[in-house]
Amino acid sequence: MRIRRIGIVGAGTMGAGIAALSASAGLPVVLLDIPASDGDASAPARKGLERQLKVRPAAFMDPDRASLVRAGNTRDDLHLLAECDLVIEAIIEQAQPKRDLYERLEQVLKPGAIVATNTSGIPMKTLVEGRRKDFRERFLGMHFFNPPRYLHLLEIIAAPETTAETLTAARQFSERILGKGTIRAKDVPGFVANRLGVYGMVLALRMLDEFDLSIDEVDALTGPALGRAKSATFRTADLTGLDVLNHVAQELTTATGEDFALPGWVQQLITRGDLGEKSGGGFYRKVGKDIHTLDRKSLEYAPQQKVDSKELAALSRMPLVERFEAVKGLPGKYGEFARSYLLRLSHFVLERTPHVAYDIPSVDRGMEWGYAWEAGPFRQMDMLGVDFLRTGFAKEGLREPALLQRAKASFYADGQVLGLDGTYAPLEPVAGAIVLAERRTAGRAHFETDDAALVDLGDGVACLEFRSKMNTLGAGVIDALQRALTLVDDKGMAGLVIGNDDPRTFTAGADLGMVAGLVQRGEWKKLEVAVATFQQCSMSLRSSPFPVVVAPFGLTLGGGCEFSLHADMIQAHAELYIGLVEVGVGLIPGGGGTKELMFRYTRDLAPYDEADPFEGVKRAFKLIAMATTSTSALDARKLGFLRERDRISMNRDLLLADAKQRVLDLAPGYVAPTPQTVMATGSEGLGNLEYAGWAMREGGQITDFEVKLAYEVAYVLCGGDGPPRAVTEQDILDLERDAFLRLLGTKETQERIGHMLKTGKPLRN
Ligand code: NAD
Repeated sequence: MRIRRIGIVGAGTMGAGIAALSASAGLPVVLLDIPASDGDASAPARKGLERQLKVRPAAFMDPDRASLVRAGNTRDDLHLLAECDLVIEAIIEQAQPKRDLYERLEQVLKPGAIVATNTSGIPMKTLVEGRRKDFRERFLGMHFFNPPRYLHLLEIIAAPETTAETLTAARQFSERILGKGTIRAKDVPGFVANRLGVYGMVLALRMLDEFDLSIDEVDALTGPALGRAKSATFRTADLTGLDVLNHVAQELTTATGEDFALPGWVQQLITRGDLGEKSGGGFYRKVGKDIHTLDRKSLEYAPQQKVDSKELAALSRMPLVERFEAVKGLPGKYGEFARSYLLRLSHFVLERTPHVAYDIPSVDRGMEWGYAWEAGPFRQMDMLGVDFLRTGFAKEGLREPALLQRAKASFYADGQVLGLDGTYAPLEPVAGAIVLAERRTAGRAHFETDDAALVDLGDGVACLEFRSKMNTLGAGVIDALQRALTLVDDKGMAGLVIGNDDPRTFTAGADLGMVAGLVQRGEWKKLEVAVATFQQCSMSLRSSPFPVVVAPFGLTLGGGCEFSLHADMIQAHAELYIGLVEVGVGLIPGGGGTKELMFRYTRDLAPYDEADPFEGVKRAFKLIAMATTSTSALDARKLGFLRERDRISMNRDLLLADAKQRVLDLAPGYVAPTPQTVMATGSEGLGNLEYAGWAMREGGQITDFEVKLAYEVAYVLCGGDGPPRAVTEQDILDLERDAFLRLLGTKETQERIGHMLKTGKPLRN
């Protein structure tokens, strides 16, 4: 069934957050809350929506999408839900109000409409009691994580009579339209991720006392050192709210009979109102610009003590597999803590998995997507090794769990995974996803180097993957790109995708280290060739006789943006932070980016006879001079990095498959676009922009060097300082390259590059 319009009841943290996500995905939403007792009856829902427009990080991918949400109240507007194909309930976590609401929904919903609850743990069976059969069959749990835009996980829970069609429709909608990663969870308290994740938090909190460690130390040990988020244990608790964590822990204890209780000293904090970030302090407190940490014994705050451990510092630089290997041998109290923590948590996971999940990959994905673990618990256990677990459990006085007894040498092996029944079966990939690493290991790479690989995606489509550090674009990547373009052409393949599997960074842009090296050695001829080659690569993406689709996501800076701009089509992930940020290192976009924005924006105006091409130049100038980076793919479209024809994938896991499909759409009868010319404004436009730079200098907003930098950008965008003239792309590329090289010769640009390489931050000189 097609879900075209959704209703959400409960406009609190979750309901309004899900509304913001759904509207960002382009769906019309009806959002209802209880009626206000006086004044505007729909004020509660409206306020919920307004909060989502203010929260940071932003809940809406484009604030204009808020117009898709119609706020109302459950007294006057319930009939609006009759138009909805899916209604998500996200009201107060109590069974009776939820049941009362369903009774009313049953009267108004259209036949076939699906009803989902976002409950964190009320059993489905209790919720549907008394409802009609057709309602019970179309009812399920859809458990989102907070904030719904950013946490990838969605747990899907079947009620006793939910039909397979309902589950499939909800799953497909969640994956394709909302972009979530779904897992099936059993109808048990805490489902999969919270049952295991909250246990992990509580365990670390308790072990602090047992090992006599400080809060700073436990966070240093339970963060990136073990492949967890930077916020580790205590900072995460501060963000969640200590009261909320305590409430969830108590509920889990009551519902499961397992012990989730927080230590007494944490209860003391809650009693005195130190609830975390929302109350101004919890385990940590901000004092001016400094962070103070709670001393567990005195319950007073003192300046944060950075944990000074060579071993831990070394750990965080290693790939995850080596990190876990190193943890096995980590000396002293830190080593004992880390091993004991991993063993006890692994034991709990092994014992609980058959009760909460249907399979091992769901547990791993649940923790990776919902709790941002680099690798899920079973993948971690494989890194530690089953022998380590067995001896470790014995040392800790823990019985060997049945699931471990069934495991051979590892839980995952040769594309297979251990099932809960003890047999190994093929590991099912995320439906529809293409995983480059898997293809490479399966021998499906056309070629592979340290910096890049060309991977076969099937159906005559190849994917060029960057694999350098931060996926920067250095000589190795450029060589691979040229090689890929030749190979796809020679083999008569359908086309090329440019994309990769990195979790956060499509590319940080050009390899500054390489540029700095050439400058230092005074190899100007080589630099000129390098810049020209980069420009030609961008142009080849456009002029190649087959379609090229770039699939950017996350950080897509500098050269990555330039490649994207030159693709036949962009298939972007919804979370796209794209920009031409070269001015930050004292340069202008020199890989065709300055040229492309000038051409794109000037040509956008072409249909309007009276339009002044300077308007297009001004738009390009602003983006480049301010180093504007988009906050989402929708924002990138508004900025003009994406055109109407470029497409957005909500689900990161499906990005490469979507990009491949775009190549196949374009391939039949593909002809490369013809070269373009535009009118350059020359000295008139340049004078205008020069004045703007001067005014900003007078206003103290920019430095002398930035005036020069702005002039160089303007000079290229205006096609030089002559009279207005028709220019080709190559004319502007030549100006762009000269300006780039001129700037590279300045002391200020060299300082900026040096500073960026050393600190990772831009310098303003
Ligand atoms: P919340 O308190 O922020 O919001 C609940 C909203 O529901 C409020 O605006 C309230 O006015 C409204 N409401 C209460 N009773 C109502 C009724 N009878 N009809 C219409 N509206 C009503 O709560 P929340 O954190 O958004 O949680 C909502 C649900 O989602 C709960 O079931 C909770 O367990 C679940 N959940 C919460 C989180 C989380 O992290 N906060 C995560 C996953 C699931």
